[in-house]
Amino acid sequence: MIKGYINKGVFINYVDCPTLGWMSKRGLIPRQNGLNNKLLMLEGRNIHKLSWKLFPEAVNAQKTDIITSQQHTQQLIEENKQTILEASFVSGGFSVRTDIIRKTENGAWHLYEVKSGSKYKVKYVEDMAFSAMIMSKAGLKVESASLMHLSNDYRIGMDAEKLFSSLDCSEKVSAKMAQYLEISQKAFEDITSDNMPQPYLKRQCKNCPVFDMCMGKNVKNHIFDLPRLSGIAIEELIALGADTIDKVPPDFELTAHQNIVKNCVLTDTVYVGDNLKPELEKIKYPVFYLDFESVTTIMPLYADIAPHTQLLTQFSIDKSETVPEVSQHFEYIAEHTRDCRREIAEKLVEYFGKEGSIITYSNFEKVAIAKLSVMFPDLCEDLRKIIDRLVDFEAIVRNNYYDARFHGRSSIKKVLPVMIPEMNYEGLEIGEGGDAAAAFSFMAMGLYDEEKIAETKKNLLQYCAQDTFAMVKIHKFLIGACARQTRKAEFL
Ligand code: SF4
Repeated sequence: MIKGYINKGVFINYVDCPTLGWMSKRGLIPRQNGLNNKLLMLEGRNIHKLSWKLFPEAVNAQKTDIITSQQHTQQLIEENKQTILEASFVSGGFSVRTDIIRKTENGAWHLYEVKSGSKYKVKYVEDMAFSAMIMSKAGLKVESASLMHLSNDYRIGMDAEKLFSSLDCSEKVSAKMAQYLEISQKAFEDITSDNMPQPYLKRQCKNCPVFDMCMGKNVKNHIFDLPRLSGIAIEELIALGADTIDKVPPDFELTAHQNIVKNCVLTDTVYVGDNLKPELEKIKYPVFYLDFESVTTIMPLYADIAPHTQLLTQFSIDKSETVPEVSQHFEYIAEHTRDCRREIAEKLVEYFGKEGSIITYSNFEKVAIAKLSVMFPDLCEDLRKIIDRLVDFEAIVRNNYYDARFHGRSSIKKVLPVMIPEMNYEGLEIGEGGDAAAAFSFMAMGLYDEEKIAETKKNLLQYCAQDTFAMVKIHKFLIGACARQTRKAEFL
């Protein structure tokens, strides 16, 4: 029999998929250990602490472990404390630590769930329903529940009350709790059993964190490699017994892009679209390759910025005069103590000059420059001209080049190792966008000393430069693919 209590995460995973719940209780789900995850945890803790300011009369029940926290909670309830922070409950093999509970006039309890998101999400109700269920199993009546999420109107310097918006979720929580109560005994038996619940393919598997260890294990060309496959299409294919692309019936309706992927798998070939060459021929020299980095923190980093605002912090540009080779490199990283978006806009205008295509890999740069053009009306015309010169390589690859090893994706991190196997992010201190954003945030939050800041900025510049250079290499690769295609056609 497995030891320990079933917590919220395990139970909610079980509701999604019994196998997943069983695996998560045993710690079989890969942990997220990156800087990005550390930032999320740090910000989450800070938001919870800020929420406590709204309840100055409250007492905190948290102790070192769940059992002593539960005992302390019990003691505080017996002492007739009206508002308790971090109250813990254990019952029927389950445990939960709530955010804030407050006694109502009727002697029941109101549950507050603090979330760092800025709008309602169904999963918040699921969290609240689990808490309410365990409280009720422990003998407390939960009369009502509200979500405390962040307000977009908050700005640095305002009081904590302005940081939160409250939403009454009592009815939704009550309905969900009733569902949970019905399945809780079976969930307990399944999760604690020595035998793992039999996994089976379903739409949830597509985004499951253990897919590669479970339904995707040793499966080549899974139907999930078909890009943008809808939930309904997944269910229809599963009902037809088609778990891999080769089993998809010939008359099953697929999009043009999905058909390209399917044909590549069935014929074991690489797809080079007829439009690839004309698309590449439209690119005008000198060519610039542009990559942005940005940060999105929960709490604003600078004045006059709302929570969750995405801020540009960095860019890297490679310039090619006649062929995809770097003739000049420009880079910029923001001063971490202030909002440098104006400076970024000015530098872009300066570096890009008046002519030549500007290649990006995704639509992100286009959207970000459009936002800058709205923020700084005096630069709007120049920035709009830059937008007119942008060429999104991801769209070109998505529509015109496919290798089954892309597994239905077109992101630079997926296509680069296939197109340019010798080019990877190993050896870089920062090798992933989320970690780059987190590293910058830690600097802006004042958590790094001067030495660490200098090292981090160097690592961030290297990372951004690598993404930019990857586009140069991809450009060269695609030109080569067109040439190979032409030779093949001539030979045939
Ligand atoms: S891959 Fe599917 S069956 Fe396996 S744990 Fe995930 S959701 Fe459940």
